[in-house]
Amino acid sequence: MALIECPSCQKRISSKAKQCQFCHSSTDGDNESVRVISHIQKSNQLMTHSFVFLTLFIAGVVIWFWGGETATGMQSYIAVGCFVFGFVGYTITRARIVLHKRKSV
Ligand SMILES: [Zn+2]
Repeated sequence: MALIECPSCQKRISSKAKQCQFCHSSTDGDNESVRVISHIQKSNQLMTHSFVFLTLFIAGVVIWFWGGETATGMQSYIAVGCFVFGFVGYTITRARIVLHKRKSV
């Protein structure tokens, strides 16, 4: 018995289960396609995450230079926060995408 990811909720379920025990979506016992779909959905999810973090990163830069002057006070904290969080998040997500792609489908 192997564990697969549910195509609907991504929770770990038995590959022999006819339906997910968490969200009750049917797996139809067609585990190969379920695995492939789950892999693709995970890829899409990671791409969305990297996009969100990239947007945050850019937002940080924009806030920092908003009004043509370097940010001060509260504005600079928000800018640096977005910038650092976006950068770190983006880097981690990119690494996760690389690791995910290395996994064979
Ligand atoms: Zn499920």
